[in-house]
Amino acid sequence: MKKKKNFSLELETKVAQALRFIDDTTGAVTPNIQLSATYARDENYDNRKPYWYRRDGNETTAYAEEIIAELEGAKDSILFASGMSAATAVIDNLPKGAHVVIPKVMYHGVLAQFQRYEELKRLNISYYEAGDLEEMETAINDRKTDLVWVETPNNPDWAVTDIALAAEITHRNNAKLLTDCTATPPCITRALELGADISFHSATKFLNGHSDATAGVLSTCEVDDNWESLYLIRKLQGSVLNSLEAWLLIRGMRTLFLRLEKACKNAMKIANYFEGHSKIESVLYPGLKSHKGHEISKKQTDGKFGSMLSIIVKGDEKKAIDVARACKIFYPATSLGGVESLIEHRKTVSGEGFPVHPRLLRLSIGIENLDDLIYDLEQALESAS
Ligand SMILES: *Cc1c(COP(=O)(O)O)cnc(C)c1O
Repeated sequence: MKKKKNFSLELETKVAQALRFIDDTTGAVTPNIQLSATYARDENYDNRKPYWYRRDGNETTAYAEEIIAELEGAKDSILFASGMSAATAVIDNLPKGAHVVIPKVMYHGVLAQFQRYEELKRLNISYYEAGDLEEMETAINDRKTDLVWVETPNNPDWAVTDIALAAEITHRNNAKLLTDCTATPPCITRALELGADISFHSATKFLNGHSDATAGVLSTCEVDDNWESLYLIRKLQGSVLNSLEAWLLIRGMRTLFLRLEKACKNAMKIANYFEGHSKIESVLYPGLKSHKGHEISKKQTDGKFGSMLSIIVKGDEKKAIDVARACKIFYPATSLGGVESLIEHRKTVSGEGFPVHPRLLRLSIGIENLDDLIYDLEQALESAS
């Protein structure tokens, strides 16, 4: 028997059992969905803590937060109605005139939100090339930077940033580090342990894993006033994750480890199969030795590399779109991290002016049969030519 790696095995068990949930009165082994929007006061006319109105949080959402905190090794996690509302809360929480350092290319919605706040003169942005720590440090403004945002692996070429080094640089300069590791969830990348101050995830993706809920989550090891005000922002924005979706998220997370194991294996095999393919110019996947971030990714993802990859097809932009259109098993849809595989022409989604390769197709590899997925890409490449 393999020597037990104590933390990961235990975590796998805890998450599969939703922290060993047992309902006190009925013995039910799945958590309840508390749909109530309001809560009655007690006989003294006091609020029964901690809940009083659902916009401020509820039992089901809090339970999902507990599971994520466990996964992240966090002191606290806060769930929002989407990744974007979680990101917006962080941005909104910055002091007026804040300086932020963000990647030039990153998840387009978060980038757009930062830029909107800059247009409103709420903050100032400096950019760095994703994965380039030297550029990151140059962009950091001599102890005046408030927040450094790292997306790793980074959309859509999966550039890898060494989180531990980024944390060192950020902290040396008195700034806070936020990591968006949506593409490698906390069963394979534990950003807080590597030094991030806030770990962000679009829980819409791998954490939920079934493309049937939107959610975003922030986690930290440091519960201070700055953190507490995120709760206030969530309450005032009305952006708490609703309980029905929190329940779906709990249900999805129970199979997180299992899903990731299969999806990562599929992705590795697909990347190997298509690297050097006559109709493909390059395969961008951190699991490949040809990828710049391979070594860092290996240690940062427990050797699993995630299941997101991109291919740059030979030919022209139309050819790339035609390949996505010709798929019969991959869904031609945006998003990622579900059990079903998706393919998308990223430039169509990011919009004109966004610096993404015109022949890049982003693939989210699911848990389907490997041969079916390879067959589908082969036939799509063939029929589109
Ligand atoms: C999807 C995504 C987001 C935004 O999350 P939503 O749940 O769609 O609002 C942010 N960052 C990354 C890397 C994502 O993939």
